[in-house]
Amino acid sequence: MSLEAHEELLNGLVEKGKSHYPNEFGGILVGYYSQDNTYLHITDTILPKTFKASKFSFERSTKGIERKLGIYYKEIPKQFYVGEWHTHPDNSPIPSLTDISALNAIINNQDACLANPVLLIIGYSKRKVDFGFYVWFENKLYRYE
Ligand SMILES: [Zn+2]
Repeated sequence: MSLEAHEELLNGLVEKGKSHYPNEFGGILVGYYSQDNTYLHITDTILPKTFKASKFSFERSTKGIERKLGIYYKEIPKQFYVGEWHTHPDNSPIPSLTDISALNAIINNQDACLANPVLLIIGYSKRKVDFGFYVWFENKLYRYE
């Protein structure tokens, strides 16, 4: 499966993330798949209303997210929840054990009928920004190159 996200969107995520320095920050990713399921287009983000964050953790609430997603269901093409993103301030975009178990919990959540969620981690420092795109496939997390 290939993946695409606009640079504008990614830059926006970096900016939002940086405004919460030194804590992590994140949200959910919205997008759509091609008919044959080989291509994922990430189109937007929904930011959580409330969240708990530290320099090494980020936990969002689900409050209001379903309602906001409803707007995307009505668009053409229909867009929906495709995964999660969060930052790693002063760190590399490598998923922590917490990140992996959080993603596992999402898959086991019956509300989210999503077999292959995407995880985007934005590792950043003053000098650089690193994007780590991952997809959950058959109980493992694979990184996109
Ligand atoms: Zn993380």
